[in-house]
Amino acid sequence: MAILKILQYPDERLHKVAAPVSAITDEIHVLVQNMTETMYAAAGIGLAATQVDVHQRVIVIDVSETRDQLHVFINPEIIASEGEFDYQEGCLSVPGIFEKVKRAENISVRAMNLNGDLFELDASSLFAICIQHEMDHLMGKVFIEYLSQLKQSRIRSKLRKRQRDAKS
Ligand SMILES: [Zn+2]
Repeated sequence: MAILKILQYPDERLHKVAAPVSAITDEIHVLVQNMTETMYAAAGIGLAATQVDVHQRVIVIDVSETRDQLHVFINPEIIASEGEFDYQEGCLSVPGIFEKVKRAENISVRAMNLNGDLFELDASSLFAICIQHEMDHLMGKVFIEYLSQLKQSRIRSKLRKRQRDAKS
């Protein structure tokens, strides 16, 4: 297993659209293992393959406090959603930035697991928010893109400055 490098906004590779996984190969198993390890090491609650520069529809999520309830979604699709909920979101690709985003409160998701079987799952509140946030990554969308242009450009310059400072 390996810890993968997480792309940092405004890296343009975060805007690539992921392709559906056509078969559960060894490569996908390794990807999921590495993504899981990377998410736990970074103390995140979710990670999309896009964030580690693999452009396939794979996400891992664990919103439990005990960090032992891993969910793997391959080719996830939201098949129903209702309600509205906003939550102060953060992202491993946008470190130190927390902003409220409006999302559906309850969703039903259909996805494939690592055995290649389809499953359906209902999620609400934080779990539902996290799935929607990670699925956005697969579409090349980062959560701060829901904010005003002004806020986005402030965040971009803040992060660029921080990345420059880190390099020097
Ligand atoms: Zn994120």
